[in-house]
Amino acid sequence: MHENPKTHIPTVYLVVPCYNEEEVLPETVKRLTAKLQQMQQAGLAGEKSRMLFVDDGSKDRTWELISAFSAQNPLVTGLKLAHNRGHQNALLAGLMEAKDRADCAISLDADLQDDIEVLDEFVQKFLEGCDVVYGVRKKRETDTFFKRTTAQGFYKVMRILGVETVYNHADYRLMSQRALDALSEYREVNLFLRGIVPLIGYRSDYVYYDRHERFAGESKYPLKKMISFALDGITSFSVKPLKIISNLGILVSVLSVGGLIYALISYFTGNAVAGWTATVSSIWLLGGIQLLCIGVVGGYVGKIYSEVKARPRYRIEEKAGEDKPGQPRE
Ligand code: UDP
Ligand code: MG
Repeated sequence: MHENPKTHIPTVYLVVPCYNEEEVLPETVKRLTAKLQQMQQAGLAGEKSRMLFVDDGSKDRTWELISAFSAQNPLVTGLKLAHNRGHQNALLAGLMEAKDRADCAISLDADLQDDIEVLDEFVQKFLEGCDVVYGVRKKRETDTFFKRTTAQGFYKVMRILGVETVYNHADYRLMSQRALDALSEYREVNLFLRGIVPLIGYRSDYVYYDRHERFAGESKYPLKKMISFALDGITSFSVKPLKIISNLGILVSVLSVGGLIYALISYFTGNAVAGWTATVSSIWLLGGIQLLCIGVVGGYVGKIYSEVKARPRYRIEEKAGEDKPGQPRE
């Protein structure tokens, strides 16, 4: 039997990464406090539930605000990173902090673009026994055409490369304590949470929501960061680009043999300019062999790469029969 569904009121942590968010923080704290209190009254969030604001090395007054709010508001807690380490790392820092204190943690952005009214649904799904609940955007009309098409292209490329991601899901998600424990086993430095969380594999579900416009401040994801984020996602999850090099090497080698034959025929039929045959055939053949060799080296690099990441090889979801799994922490 599955130990879920759960009966006690869970301690819920709302984990909010913040980078230069002084303009939005007061409003965010206000709205989230009201929401969290409402959830506590509804019996969806326990007394110890908190908001956890992670200051990702902001250069403005973000941290001052977080610490001031935490002094007045018992629901507010904060964490300050020493440097700006990026959204994904800030999120991880917050989640790992929440792991030891909460039954589940929900990550959301400081600008409240993700509709907080669906927070109840996240917790309900958790109470029904889900370990991961993904927030999925119904529509993307609040995004610019550019952001929409690039995002779609990105999901497509990821699928082609064989990386499992949840379509139209950003980092608005709930994770149970044991899902967070599992997450802590992924020790890679280039973190791409949207790719890793589906690898955890426990029971999951979706919550659909509308995305609003940012109510103040500017996006902290300029094009440069978006591109590097997308490249990180691809290169952290797929060695297919390396395979493409090998295949290209094979193709060029085969073609160059064809070219070589053509060059030899030209030579023997007397159609070739002096010196052309030797030059051209060596360029073709060498080019092909070189690409092939790079591909072979790439094959080993790919292996080293996946070994270095040292990802967990399996995860036990449940046990049946005599030996019960370890008791959950209290
Ligand atoms: N963020 C962060 N570190 C960064 C960049 C962004 O913690 O280096 C946070 C930011 O404060 C916000 C969230 O990540 O809470 C998402 O950023 P943003 O809303 O600017 O991205 P967009 O919604 O435009 O994709
Ligand atoms: Mg935003």
